[in-house]
Amino acid sequence: MADDSKQATFERPARRNDAEGVEVKYCRTQDSRSARSDDQRMTDTAGTDRPTPDVDVVVVGAGIAGLYLAYRLSRAGYRLRVFEAADDIGGTWYWNRYPGARVDVPSVDYMFSFDPDWRRDWQWTEKYATQPEILRYLNHVADKHDLRRHITFSTRVQHADWDDDASLWRVRTDGGVEVTSRFVVMATGCLSMPKPAEVDGLERFAGEVYFTSAWPHEPVDFTGKRVAVIGTGSSGIQSIPVIAQQARELVVFQRTPNFSFPALNGPLSPEKLAQLTSEAEYRAAARMSFGGIPMMERSIIPTFSVSETERQQRYEHAWQSGLLFETLTVYADVGINPAANHEFAEFVRNKIRSIVDDPQTAADLCPTDHPIGMKRPCLDTNYYATYNSPHVRLVNVRKHPIRQVTETGIDTADESFSFDAIVFATGFDAVTGAISAVDFRGRNGVALKDKWANGPQTYLGLTTTGFPNLFFITGPGSPSVLSNMAVSIEQHADWVLDCLGHLSTGGFDAIEPTETAEAGWTQHVNDCADITLYPSANSWYMGANVPGKPRVFLPYCGGVDFYALSCDEVVARDYLGFSRSGPDGSRCNDGVVRRLQPDVEMVLMEAAALNLPPMESMPVADARALYAQMLAPLPPGPDVGEIADGVLPGAAGDLAYRLYRPATPGPHPIVVYFHGGGYVLGDAISDDPLCRDLCVRSDTIIVSANYRHAPEHRFPAAVDDAMAALRWVADNAPGLGGIPGQLAVCGWSAGGGIAAAVCQLARDMGGPVVVGQVLLMPATSGDTTSASYTENADGYGLTTPLMRWFYDHYIDAADRSDPRFAPLSAVDLSGLPPAIVVAAEFDPLRDDGEAYAAALDAAGVPTELVRARGAIHQSISMVDLVVSGAPIRAQTADALRRFFAATRTPELAS
Ligand SMILES: Cc1cc2nc3c(=O)[nH]c(=O)nc-3n(C[C@H](O)[C@H](O)[C@H](O)COP(=O)(O)OP(=O)(O)OC[C@H]3O[C@@H](n4cnc5c(N)ncnc54)[C@H](O)[C@@H]3O)c2cc1C
Repeated sequence: MADDSKQATFERPARRNDAEGVEVKYCRTQDSRSARSDDQRMTDTAGTDRPTPDVDVVVVGAGIAGLYLAYRLSRAGYRLRVFEAADDIGGTWYWNRYPGARVDVPSVDYMFSFDPDWRRDWQWTEKYATQPEILRYLNHVADKHDLRRHITFSTRVQHADWDDDASLWRVRTDGGVEVTSRFVVMATGCLSMPKPAEVDGLERFAGEVYFTSAWPHEPVDFTGKRVAVIGTGSSGIQSIPVIAQQARELVVFQRTPNFSFPALNGPLSPEKLAQLTSEAEYRAAARMSFGGIPMMERSIIPTFSVSETERQQRYEHAWQSGLLFETLTVYADVGINPAANHEFAEFVRNKIRSIVDDPQTAADLCPTDHPIGMKRPCLDTNYYATYNSPHVRLVNVRKHPIRQVTETGIDTADESFSFDAIVFATGFDAVTGAISAVDFRGRNGVALKDKWANGPQTYLGLTTTGFPNLFFITGPGSPSVLSNMAVSIEQHADWVLDCLGHLSTGGFDAIEPTETAEAGWTQHVNDCADITLYPSANSWYMGANVPGKPRVFLPYCGGVDFYALSCDEVVARDYLGFSRSGPDGSRCNDGVVRRLQPDVEMVLMEAAALNLPPMESMPVADARALYAQMLAPLPPGPDVGEIADGVLPGAAGDLAYRLYRPATPGPHPIVVYFHGGGYVLGDAISDDPLCRDLCVRSDTIIVSANYRHAPEHRFPAAVDDAMAALRWVADNAPGLGGIPGQLAVCGWSAGGGIAAAVCQLARDMGGPVVVGQVLLMPATSGDTTSASYTENADGYGLTTPLMRWFYDHYIDAADRSDPRFAPLSAVDLSGLPPAIVVAAEFDPLRDDGEAYAAALDAAGVPTELVRARGAIHQSISMVDLVVSGAPIRAQTADALRRFFAATRTPELAS
């Protein structure tokens, strides 16, 4: 937690005579005064007499976030006003008083961390506390720290206009009150805007109507009543078993079944309390954990790397754990690999089938329309078993749609039901609903609703361009609903407090993210989601539950820990991506905080943690052993139809090869593949996962041919062998199951350079005919002084010193312009086969690939250059580990199919 001792104020800072320490840079923010230069703006602003706002900070909402902000801001000396629509504190826990309402993260994890002496005056009675107990706790904290005095209750903020000249917000409430404030912090919650009931005729119903999200304060007694519950999300799943205990009849109307796990609630375990012995350490670990709960970390084990028996035991353990996050982290790839996800989902479906007696009800309760974990799973107490009670019935509204609510009940397409009460558990307009409900007007009068019409764009989920001094707590683009929100709320509020302190100290009174930073973060949030199965589920995470809401993945799924690192890095790099301004000038530090693909980032962090010595510092034999050791634990890649190992005649003796055959009926086209490894490392099977992947995706036979390595065999041994392999495969295509004439080459890294070279040799030597070349991050020039060698010299897997070491082992300086080593040096590139060249953004070899693609193109060779954004040299080869490489491999396979299709004659095809 940040230092509170600083007294801060946002009354206009005393004017300074010089712009000392204020660096003015060009920044792409939307500025109504943007026609003028930053220097002019500085002068203009300094000459303006800005009014002092009524308060420094307006906070909207008095749930956990609003209370924590009130505590921090008041202690730091800010003048603040908190507005809350409800007539008391608590937010979620004020509104959602339905029977069975509870947390789904352990209570001791779901609490404020700023009050380390909580145990003296607070005890949780259960592992998962009920709503009344949580609300009591929040009241206890509010009273203990005298927080209510900052809050204006029963007041909804409706409008907020940014006054650019005065550099403040004009905030208006439903009572018509206007308050001016330097900053606005939206602590309005992710799940506080209920969705309206989407049924016709509700106004006709003569019985009782309840919404779980606005439950009466007085107890509701369903004893002896006929009750309908509409909705089987978390609130439905929690309330249904409790309502069933009272009701005479209970009919549950279900549109989408959800996965739910037994909560196994009970008293707090001594083990859990023991973990909290060192409270400060425990809370710090929570902030640096995957989901905001310590000791529940991501698995790094891929599902199918362990035996079926072990997997079933692991699933059973998760089922018996009574911990939601445990079920989300069973194996590393459950959220990314459909086959892995299916297996775990099937385990849970089998559990449902084993609990529910009626096979049809069980079938209806089994979720089949979304991958497990990709909608928030639930924790329950006796949910599935409740359907075994004779007075409880499930109606699958996908098969029997609700037509209308009548005076006495509900009509489906084929049945009329009579009820005394209807309970709506139909969820929320999540994450953006409460923010968009306020009519925000930013710079130039732009409405936030318009800006976000196609989905929210934020920087860090905390801020948005064009709306200075507006902060969101757990906003879109932050871990929010994918985390223990108590932890995420504190992390966000702490960041905002630090930021306000920084502005005050620096003499600034406004902050706003740059367009570049916001676009970069939005891209990063999407990149994180795109490597997972999240986007494939029609969930409220995607806005899919609200008609007309843009289909965008709303939270940040990279984890609480990675997210916090980004926030910290932005601050450490002088508020990277933010523009700050004040009476004395402005400072802009434009940039993007996360440019690597998220999975690449993770792999690099794990590799860095191993602290391995650089390969170029080792004897060759040791480097080869280390390379093999690094490849061994990688996921194996997909199954192919057949794998056959053999030898073929090289230029100076036999060479090993491995053939990968698709499972589809042959004959197939053939690709001769040359492995990576800098001419020094690797062999015919060292790129096994990549070859399998290419085989399956392109439906092509891959023959991965070894070649002699340096330093034992220096240039041109490797390319001579490669040429020999190409000839042999061409000559033996029918015997290998190939289609004669349907021959392409592919290579990665040094192998990419070799593949390019053999295309030139085949052209010059009159054969064999090669119909396409796939060059993956190829070495094409031998030049280690290009920009990509400087920019990516270290820290991205392949380093510049290692490339130099490879080249020195392989080739004399005098030979380095020979096109058999540096195909880019060839005088003539015309007449070569069509090419696809992949260049990774963070790769010393990037410029080699790009230059060769440009040269091929200039020579009239049909060439596709794939610039792999956020990728490193190994992005393409780490199949199933670097999932962001999958679209590139798919593009590569598509190109291969095109090469073959373009040259396939009817005779060849038969
Ligand atoms: C039933 C339920 C169970 C949950 N269980 C968990 C759990 O186990 N673990 C977990 O991490 N999270 C859980 N959540 C998410 C939960 O919302 C957060 O954990 C947390 O309570 C959010 O706190 P908050 O202060 O950010 O927002 P909220 O608690 O939602 O408070 C926001 C407040 O802002 C007020 N407000 C909104 N708009 C305006 C406006 N324009 N003007 C004035 N006031 C306004 C609302 O009235 C509300 O009181 C649950 C949510 C629900 C609905």
